[in-house]
Amino acid sequence: MQENQDDIFDDEIDEPDDLSGDRKIYTEQGDPEVESLHKRYKRGRLNIQPNFQRQFVWDKVKSSRLIESALLDIPIPIIYLSEDKDGKENVIDGQQRLTAFFSFIDDKLPDNSEFKLTGLNVFRELNGKKFNQLSEEHQDKIMTYKIRVIKFKKESDSDLQFEIFTRLNTGSVPLNDQELRNCVFRGRFNDLIKELSQDSNFKDLLGIERSDSRMKDRELVLRFAAFQFNTYLNYNAPIKKFLNNTMEKYQNISAADELKLRDTFKNTISIIKSLLDKNAFKRFYCGVEKNKSGKWETKQFNVSLFDILMYSFAREDKNTVLQNLDRIKEALIDLMTSDLDFINSIELSTSSKKAVTIRFDKWRLTLQTILGIGTKEPRCFTYALKKELFEENSTCAICGNRIINIDDAAVDHIEQYWTGGKTIPENARLTHRYCNNARSRIELFEDGSNNIAHLNSISTKPSNNIQFSAFSGPETTEYSENTVHKKTINNPIVKDERKYKFFEQFLSVCNQKTHIFSKISPQGYQNWIRAANGKMGFAWVIHISSETAKVVFYLNSTSPEKNRNRINYLFSRKEKIEERFGESFDWHTKDSLKQPCFRTFDSIGGMDNEDQWPTIQNDLVEKLIRFENAISPYITEISKTKETKTVEEHL
Ligand SMILES: [Zn+2]
Repeated sequence: MQENQDDIFDDEIDEPDDLSGDRKIYTEQGDPEVESLHKRYKRGRLNIQPNFQRQFVWDKVKSSRLIESALLDIPIPIIYLSEDKDGKENVIDGQQRLTAFFSFIDDKLPDNSEFKLTGLNVFRELNGKKFNQLSEEHQDKIMTYKIRVIKFKKESDSDLQFEIFTRLNTGSVPLNDQELRNCVFRGRFNDLIKELSQDSNFKDLLGIERSDSRMKDRELVLRFAAFQFNTYLNYNAPIKKFLNNTMEKYQNISAADELKLRDTFKNTISIIKSLLDKNAFKRFYCGVEKNKSGKWETKQFNVSLFDILMYSFAREDKNTVLQNLDRIKEALIDLMTSDLDFINSIELSTSSKKAVTIRFDKWRLTLQTILGIGTKEPRCFTYALKKELFEENSTCAICGNRIINIDDAAVDHIEQYWTGGKTIPENARLTHRYCNNARSRIELFEDGSNNIAHLNSISTKPSNNIQFSAFSGPETTEYSENTVHKKTINNPIVKDERKYKFFEQFLSVCNQKTHIFSKISPQGYQNWIRAANGKMGFAWVIHISSETAKVVFYLNSTSPEKNRNRINYLFSRKEKIEERFGESFDWHTKDSLKQPCFRTFDSIGGMDNEDQWPTIQNDLVEKLIRFENAISPYITEISKTKETKTVEEHL
């Protein structure tokens, strides 16, 4: 049970710590006798188990042999203490050793059992004896045995202290970050965190019956508090430091802040319980090509989801949320199954500032469209309609298989929304989320019957040497507009008109050289905008944010396996490709990426460099063409291979 419980908390990828800066650590060294340490312990000035909830894990033989070491005058490893603000000392490293000594002297182990020496090899005659049954000489030997102690003084920088403890922390059961925090940053805030972690609704959502033995539950409460106090906008990696700073700053939290945090936490937890109950903080996985049924994760807890859900609902009115539960839940599942940037930002569990910003922003804006700022033409069908369709007939209208779970059902526009399809029941049909997503991807990027764009129609000027030769497919002429559409495809939130102005200008330059984006509506989102076009699982993306402008080549087939093979193939030709391009690329080839890519940035900047727009726009077009020239022979190779084989096998 214990192991299972530990397993549900995923580990986070964190960045290395920066130990530079003007911070100091003050230490004091000494070799006190066991007797003096024992006296301090008895007077409550030396705390062996500072609120650890950790057990004394040594057995009687191991403890007995430690006593024997003292009798033999064999040195034991250094013990580390940390000094409180009030001068008390806490054991950071050496808890088990001191517990063994003190238990023997006091004749009682922490579990209240008797401590008689056992398993001794040298002093065999002492086996079976308690402390007061030893000779005076032996008792004295133990009491005057000296232990090397290093103490971190209270004036030390606590963040640095924390870091040093982390490094010292090499015992048989090393303390984790939260256990260390519990030790270094004791006080009102720490007590509050402990209290909140015992909230019964919270434990229900985590699916744990009792407190986590390694304080992972407390760390979650701390995460909530940290984002609550600092907001995600002020987040900086690494997360460990972000949490430490919060712990330190609020160590002696004011009564008012304490009250507020307690209320907000309990309220937020109860909202999320109504919303998701046992699925709270868990992923919903979209189906895949082979098995189109999607499903909820049953066990693994997702810390990223915890952060964003707790943060957002702590800021919303409970009643408004409760009135919109169905829509909110639908929107969340939709994000988790169809938005790749969002999925990446929660899937890798990364704590980089970028990933944190993406997931908080995306979810916050999604929630806003539901709860706050009204949207004009709703893109979503109501949950009531979905339920009605599902109860009537739960067959997927695209693949024809049964949809098992209503959460896995998407209501799809028969006529696509962006081609004018209305959000009315007559235009609705029920599909798997996978099938629905695959449809839009196919129509955007692959060679479906409703092609939006045709890369092979690009080469309008013979002199400019643009081929896109790897992409071939039937030509259609249905799509004739050549304007920037101010409606976005995936996200209805459009604010900054400047983005479209940039893109309009970009397209007028681009269309003189290639028609690759001439029939594409860019997607605007917050402070960036992009246009994507592709075919057969390859896509070109032009992406502009306030600070950057880039050309990205994505491997975006619906089969992650295929993408993997393709990127590996291309990456193995990195040198040749970059030589052809004349510059190196920024490669994103991690195995965990479903859609790997590589890209090149404009050297000037992005949308904020308004006076340089013409140069940036020209550069992007020039890079796009050079990029395509550099990779086209390799793409041709790939597209000749059979789907069933990997590229490498084929070649
Ligand atoms: Zn289906």
